[in-house]
Amino acid sequence: MTETAQTLWIRHPLACADERAAGGVVVAGSRIVEAVPAGGQPSQPVDATFDASRHVLLPGLVNTHHHFYQTLTRAYSPALNKELFPWLTTLYDVWANLDESQLALASELAMVELLMSGCTTVADHHYVFSGALLNAIDQQVETARRLGVRAALTRGSMSVGRDDGGLPPQSVVQDEQTIIDDSQRLIERYHERGDGAMVTLALAPCSPFSVSRELMGESARLAETHDVRLHTHLAETEDETGYCQRLFGMRPLDYLEDCGWLSNRTWLAHGIHFNDDEVQRLGRAGTGIAHCPSSNMVLGSGMCRTLELEAAGAPVGLAVDGSASNDHSNLAEEMRQAMLLGRLRYSPGELTHEAVIRWATRGSARCLGRDDIGGLEPGQQADLALFRLDELRFSGAENPLAALLLCGAHRADRVMVAGRWRVIDALPCDIDLEALMAKHDEAARRLRAAL
Ligand SMILES: [Zn+2]
Repeated sequence: MTETAQTLWIRHPLACADERAAGGVVVAGSRIVEAVPAGGQPSQPVDATFDASRHVLLPGLVNTHHHFYQTLTRAYSPALNKELFPWLTTLYDVWANLDESQLALASELAMVELLMSGCTTVADHHYVFSGALLNAIDQQVETARRLGVRAALTRGSMSVGRDDGGLPPQSVVQDEQTIIDDSQRLIERYHERGDGAMVTLALAPCSPFSVSRELMGESARLAETHDVRLHTHLAETEDETGYCQRLFGMRPLDYLEDCGWLSNRTWLAHGIHFNDDEVQRLGRAGTGIAHCPSSNMVLGSGMCRTLELEAAGAPVGLAVDGSASNDHSNLAEEMRQAMLLGRLRYSPGELTHEAVIRWATRGSARCLGRDDIGGLEPGQQADLALFRLDELRFSGAENPLAALLLCGAHRADRVMVAGRWRVIDALPCDIDLEALMAKHDEAARRLRAAL
């Protein structure tokens, strides 16, 4: 006889991102089994209830691009007030000294920070593999599993260093065979498939210009063979467009296509400097865009054409990007930033708070190639974020859902991942926050001192 999972009704939330679940959702095991209409009752008796009458219920937020290690170089004086390329060359020399213990703390801190902001699926783009840091991804898998968060980890790469005209120091680039062999090892060892996957792997050259054309092509072939996704930075700055035209005689998207990457297997970080024709091509291909508003504003990079990309058919998701260019890892705050930045380009009637919540949930899930997360309908994974509005900043708010963005929600009261509570009373389960911060801060000091 099979044991039936206990059912839990998240009952009558104050407000809900999905009208069809206005009466809450019923969770059994790791899934949502029923969406309850407004004022309704579950169709079957439930084993337990959680009174959500003071909570706004959202699908768990999904982050699509980050660099966990950069939490160690937040607000770093020598890199302040710089644009992307000088910012990168300043920081590469610091990052080149990163070791495993520092990365472990950085990954844990970033994941916990995301989780506390209502994020249930974290993504990371790790591309720094020095001699002291060969098992970076293995370590991130271990940390994600320990914390009980869903993780879309990527095996990043850099193969063109300063000796060959690239930006990163030679000590953090690897040869191509090493990169391909390790990518294959990681996919075979950790990549989970199908509904409910807790850890997925993707292949992610840092940018098309920090690896060779051969490695771009080989990464695409390997991704096809193993049916994993492809990720990279693209069209972040005007500098990059000029650099690409000088180096390859073509614009970044043309080069990406040339390397066999313009497909629905790929999602791109930033995706700002696209012309009309390129927006349509991305849409037709179904290539996803991870929109990173705070990072784009800090570095003065520009503004993503989010609504046009979406209208063309490209999935648009939301991301906090690295903590050296944001400098936080808070996806709830990022929703507010996305709404504010978007309204400099689009009218308030077009760029609504609902559109931004859609990016942070369903849109982000699509970028990661997933249809089992990002929603509240039956069959979805039980990944939930619940926010309370009993802080000063929300007092007097009439529309609870809009208040999350307009008044600036930044901390979830409850977060569930795959049916397990991972945040209770605004605190992560089983984590000593003070101790984590103390160790992380010490690691950041050590990293800066190593320069
Ligand atoms: Zn990035």
